[in-house]
Amino acid sequence: MANDTQRFQAIIAHCKEYGFIFPSSEIYDGLSAVYDYGQWGSELKKNIKDYWWKSMTQLHENIVGIDAAIFMHPTVWKASGHVDNFSDPMIDNLDSKKRYRVDHLIEAKAEELESAGDAAASKTLLDKMDELLAANDYEALRELIIANNIKCTVSGTSKWTSVRQFNLMFSTQLGSVTDEASEIYLRPETAQGIFVNFLNVQKSGRMKIPFGIAQIGKAFRNEIVARQFIFRMREFEQMEMQFFVRPGTQKEWYEKWKETRMNWHLSLGIPKEDYQFKPHVKLAFYADAACDIEYKFPIGFKEVEGIHSRTDYDLKQHQEFSRKKMQYFDSETNQNYIPYVIETSIGLDRMFLLIVSHAYTEEDLSTAEKPDSRVVLRFPAKLAPLKLAIFPLTKKDGLPELARELMNECMPAFRCFYEEKDAIGKRYRRQDAIGTPFCVTIDHQTKEDGTVTIRHRDTMKQERVAMGDIKAMVQKEIS
Ligand code: ATP
Repeated sequence: MANDTQRFQAIIAHCKEYGFIFPSSEIYDGLSAVYDYGQWGSELKKNIKDYWWKSMTQLHENIVGIDAAIFMHPTVWKASGHVDNFSDPMIDNLDSKKRYRVDHLIEAKAEELESAGDAAASKTLLDKMDELLAANDYEALRELIIANNIKCTVSGTSKWTSVRQFNLMFSTQLGSVTDEASEIYLRPETAQGIFVNFLNVQKSGRMKIPFGIAQIGKAFRNEIVARQFIFRMREFEQMEMQFFVRPGTQKEWYEKWKETRMNWHLSLGIPKEDYQFKPHVKLAFYADAACDIEYKFPIGFKEVEGIHSRTDYDLKQHQEFSRKKMQYFDSETNQNYIPYVIETSIGLDRMFLLIVSHAYTEEDLSTAEKPDSRVVLRFPAKLAPLKLAIFPLTKKDGLPELARELMNECMPAFRCFYEEKDAIGKRYRRQDAIGTPFCVTIDHQTKEDGTVTIRHRDTMKQERVAMGDIKAMVQKEIS
């Protein structure tokens, strides 16, 4: 693969061709930055979800999960600060009328400088941008764009408007009366569903601090520059956990969760050097520490997860706006207080893209006799959409019946796939392309001695084993 852009394009095409991701409403030419997960994509996504859910709830005695509604009382978003502050600085090009996020526009220029070999100029530009964003100095940001001769990719000109803030929340009407009172928002993050249920969960679950509440669910943001496939979408899914701690202990919990979350990523067998922590230069108004976990996507190192020390901001705001006490009585210290919060927030779709980017491999298998190649998705076996493919060598001689026997044994335990068409080699390659870790072939010898051939996706090695051992073998690898 010649470069990362081509690799990224190849991944997008592969996802479509093999039933992972389709553009939304494609027969109507699609809907910008909205995607549908296909037959294997939805399985992979569910496996990522389950892996996160299990490691965050089942493996932590003091973390429980909830599933809050997407619609929430509109005051929630006033209290949380989203109505006033959930916006990005934008700039429009006067000739093309195209709108850009200021940081994205400048980052693209910095990447251009870096590729041209001027890493120092790239760094100076990014440092200046960070400084101006932190100071909310929009006039100087515009000047920086002009001084660096940054042009619109559509019109090719640098005729820019002033920099303005643009709110990212989608709103809609609840009920049939179109007055202002019935205007509600599609949630832009799942976190607030946890905060407003903090006391419900704490009291009904008799939870003692420190404890956490986890949630997986859809979030919606009217992203202006929504591109880069499923990296930035307008409808996406988050996997969030809010961990409630005693005031004054947040620093130590923040460090602990940074480590725990990074270990979760590494537990999937993805190399350490493909990850980095990036501390936030400009802290959100509610945070006293924050960083991103970045992954080396084909489009560069980018955020996949955020870890934020959110102080007591959210609960305090909800206490003020709802006039309901959000306090916790700590029987160890005999004190009432509003807990501090550490948040871990990971995008499910970005994690999906991470897993596919890591797994996607093009292999040249040519020999002196003939050219050959394959595309293989090297998914961690526990996340693979299909775990086992079962192939009778031929459609006759009782082989399909034996294969069906194995299917019936394994199907209740994990996702299997049955196929009897085409040459075995072709069937293997199709499974490689969707990342199935194991294929089993039933042949005439199976009838004689009850053994089958199991073929391993990554090494392509084949071994002869007893058919009765297959289920346990696969289960061991995916557990
Ligand atoms: P970015 O800077 O990329 O816009 P963010 O800092 O606004 O992201 P958070 O509000 O911290 O993101 O959301 C937590 C996680 O949700 C992110 O780490 C990311 O994985 C995911 N996420 C946020 N926005 C989107 C989006 N538009 N599409 C897909 N995933 C998203």
